[in-house]
Amino acid sequence: MTKHIAVLPGDGIGPEIIQQTIRVLDKLIAQGLNADYQYAPLGGAAYDQYQHPYPEVTQNLCRAADAVLLGAVGSPQYDQLERSLRPERGLLAIRKDLNLFGNLRPAVLYPELVNASTLKPEIVSGLDILIVRELTGDIYFGEPRGIHTLDNGEREGINTMRYCESEIRRIGKIAFEAARKRHKKLCSVDKANVLETTEMWRQIINDMSHEYPDVAVSHMYVDNAAMQLVKNPKQFDVIVTGNIFGDILSDEASMLTGSIGMLPSASLNETGKGLYEPSHGSAPDIAGQNLANPLATILSLAMLLRYSFNDEQRARQIEKAVGQVLAQGLRTNDIFETGCQRVSCSQMGDAVLAAL
Ligand code: NAD
Repeated sequence: MTKHIAVLPGDGIGPEIIQQTIRVLDKLIAQGLNADYQYAPLGGAAYDQYQHPYPEVTQNLCRAADAVLLGAVGSPQYDQLERSLRPERGLLAIRKDLNLFGNLRPAVLYPELVNASTLKPEIVSGLDILIVRELTGDIYFGEPRGIHTLDNGEREGINTMRYCESEIRRIGKIAFEAARKRHKKLCSVDKANVLETTEMWRQIINDMSHEYPDVAVSHMYVDNAAMQLVKNPKQFDVIVTGNIFGDILSDEASMLTGSIGMLPSASLNETGKGLYEPSHGSAPDIAGQNLANPLATILSLAMLLRYSFNDEQRARQIEKAVGQVLAQGLRTNDIFETGCQRVSCSQMGDAVLAAL
């Protein structure tokens, strides 16, 4: 049966990196992949067209699709909009709408890029971490929220950290099962010494650990985890954490690899439907200049094939092609080093296509 992919280019560099990824997808379809795709707007692009960051036309397409491929959203020109209409709200809305509660962010260091990391090669070479971040709960969604004026005329900002037990259990399940398929080490990150929400998180992860006796579980406070990621990142195999801590730690982990432009991500629901996107944002500073690194988005397509289409072979085919272009010494600006050949976004796409 033909699988359907909803493609959401979004804002900033989104359309450029998606264009290169679609060339890869077209080639795989020409080689026999039974899939098709359709475009819809999200974020600022959707606001321009429909005055909403996640309009109905996009909702309908994404709900009907087997998987969603996204570029990135956000641009300073929308920063003055009412909060509910800003591009980033489109992203939060689609995660909620498709119930994409489990975010998988690998931080893998390609051997060719060991010098692109700001850390010493012996600290990062061979790095292979998977961060499992809860995506639909926590302080990003908790109520009450908002900015109010108090009786004394002073303003007060409120956000609420909250998790219910079932939300923690379902992300815990994804993390334990991912650890089982890897090196069987799971580190749960919290702030249980200060925040009751995460004290409960720790209790539940401990409770679940009895169902996974083959997985070694440890716990770490988020401030220590932030330090350990730069001090000794190879101690980690799988990290599981809540939405806000995961947001920050996964960006930190991404920099261990040298470039956020290299890192894909998957956001899954309970049925295996997923939204696949690069870990980086819309990079408005380089948008429209053909400078962006498209590899994170191309690698997101590999994750899409692996997790939503169960097509390990084509996923590896893409990953191998990416490894090959790096071995050829081709680098976009963000990962450039002396002795390599500097290429544009579209030239990087050309090279991946050739390697495929
Ligand atoms: P960003 O990831 O867009 O950019 C951070 C830095 O990394 C910039 O210098 C940028 O040029 C560089 N960079 C990012 N991706 C790159 C790539 N593929 N190739 C080369 N260089 C790359 O983060 P930011 O600057 O904090 O945010 C910019 C906008 O993106 C904001 O509007 C923000 O809300 C939005 N954002 C969107 C997402 C998303 O769509 N998932 C995630 C994060 C931020």
